[in-house]
Amino acid sequence: MSSFSFEVIKEIPGQLGRAGVISTPHGQITTPAFIPVGTKASVKSLAPEAVTNLGAQAVLANAYHLYLQPGAETLDAAGGLGKFMNWNRPTFTDSGGFQVMSLGAGFKKVIDMSLGSLDSDEAIAESKERLAHVDDEGVTFKSHLDGSMHRFTPEISMQVQHQIGADIIFAFDELTTLHNTRKYQEQSLERTRLWAIRCLDEHKRLTDQRSDKPYQALFGVLQGAQYEDLRRKAAKDLSEMNSSGIAFDGFGIGGALDKASLGQIVSWMSSELPRDKPRHLLGIGEPADLFAGVENGADTFDCVAPSREARTSAVYSENGRFNVSSATYKKDFSPIEKDCNCYTCSNFSRAYLNHLFRAKEMLASTLATIHNLAFTVRLVDRMRKSIVEESFLEYKEEFLAKYQAKRMD
Ligand SMILES: [Zn+2]
Repeated sequence: MSSFSFEVIKEIPGQLGRAGVISTPHGQITTPAFIPVGTKASVKSLAPEAVTNLGAQAVLANAYHLYLQPGAETLDAAGGLGKFMNWNRPTFTDSGGFQVMSLGAGFKKVIDMSLGSLDSDEAIAESKERLAHVDDEGVTFKSHLDGSMHRFTPEISMQVQHQIGADIIFAFDELTTLHNTRKYQEQSLERTRLWAIRCLDEHKRLTDQRSDKPYQALFGVLQGAQYEDLRRKAAKDLSEMNSSGIAFDGFGIGGALDKASLGQIVSWMSSELPRDKPRHLLGIGEPADLFAGVENGADTFDCVAPSREARTSAVYSENGRFNVSSATYKKDFSPIEKDCNCYTCSNFSRAYLNHLFRAKEMLASTLATIHNLAFTVRLVDRMRKSIVEESFLEYKEEFLAKYQAKRMD
């Protein structure tokens, strides 16, 4: 008996987007929702109370990083990720595939988001410099921490994610870039399909073996780069997949996504996927991309950008992003955003943040992170509200017109 479910509450008329509710053993997530990233079981610079107060419904941690440090068995002994980090709402972990290959293979800009901006030599390190090597069984990689050698297979990723104990976990997939050849994308997709079957089998075995633990939902990860036939095939294959008597509980839309066609790529897959299972769009957090994802049927999102950019003093507002450490704000005693009800905007001025960043005070990162995460979480929450009130497209137009008009970056 699983204690995981998803219910669609309302759909955007004539579109694939919807509002819904995911239920997990640690509570519900009303969707669409933005899930802040706590890579190493910590949302950088924030105590969990601050993460709760800014409106986050769940957090997503990283299996690769936690496997290397402190080790998945430590989280298992602690009673799982949520208990270890004192976060009592739902949790996600990604499979480690992305980090194993993006850090290990030396994709220099991680995953390039635009087909035009880089050539393949810039996107992928020379083979001899690579720290990760993929074969049909799994991936051998070198730790970015100490250079030690490790191996991830679909089975090991499932074991690590069961020990970490998040409510929603992801199948182990191979990551490609937009610059791999079509032939390689086909081979890789087949490898990821075979790995998905192995993930289901191992997940079933571990779920039975650890039946005293809270139920963990397994999402299959869909690849296929920019190719419509491959994206549709991935969605169809994984939604029909059944092994050891179980199917995937939901789906992760992953891999290289050409930003210009993000919405279209998500729509190809959403139209093949079952309506009654949730879809997570991995690594997407820019406002225009969030709208495209929601409109085309993605339910949850995670991205390091809002918190990472906050730490470099780039803050978000409805009129675009700006750099609060710039001299312009030295004596600006207004909040980052007038109508924002976050802890930072309720209590502090741009001038104070400007000072904290220039003085290299740790509080600078904390306050800017609270605002950027609150902004992004609220944006997706408002998309949900607009779907329920049947005004999604109007909200999208109104928001983006303002956000894109005066971008200051
Ligand atoms: Zn704010």
